[in-house]
Amino acid sequence: MMERTLVLIKPDGVYRSLIGKIISTMEDAGLKVVGMKMVRPDKKLAEQHYIPDENWMREIGDKTKATYKDQGVSNNEEPVEIGRRVWMQLIDYLMSGPVAVMVVEGNDAIFVVRKLVGATEPRKADPGSIRGRLSSDSYALADGKHRAVKNLIHASDAPETAKREISVWFKPEELIKYSRSDESAQYD
Ligand code: GDP
Ligand code: MG
Repeated sequence: MMERTLVLIKPDGVYRSLIGKIISTMEDAGLKVVGMKMVRPDKKLAEQHYIPDENWMREIGDKTKATYKDQGVSNNEEPVEIGRRVWMQLIDYLMSGPVAVMVVEGNDAIFVVRKLVGATEPRKADPGSIRGRLSSDSYALADGKHRAVKNLIHASDAPETAKREISVWFKPEELIKYSRSDESAQYD
């Protein structure tokens, strides 16, 4: 099914001059960029993207506690408090520099982009994925430096989130309808 998804190349990706490689990877897979711009997000915009939601914080906190357990790190904090810290670090990360923002369209674009992007923690991401190929950061390194994990990209994870996130960054008229020259070779 034809879908649109929001992709952010976070400041580490922009500073490392990886915009072109990341877009090429998506274009090579048959996807099409239908909206694109450079943004230096302020706090308001960053918080519209990463909403301060307690359920999200608890979920991320639970995940982080599981990672600590795997690594033999003892921790007595409430999951929601850990999640709140991760959220604050994410906001700081997004505000720390320029972000390349785009809307990407194609068959099952949300699933396909997340497959190309790979797992959240770069050290674990599949070596063929964007994160696995182009980065190596870990939660342990990031936590020790009190910063978010540098994982290059954000990509929407479901149709509802894609719709919401696209509306955070783009006005409808900023999205362009056009055909790739190979669409009938791909889809018909
Ligand atoms: P994504 O969709 O793969 O980017 O991952 P999520 O939506 O689950 O998490 C959003 C962001 O929160 C990630 O890109 C990370 O920066 C951060 N994050 C997620 N899980 C963890 C975790 O277990 N520990 C830490 N330190 N950060 C995390
Ligand atoms: Mg996500």
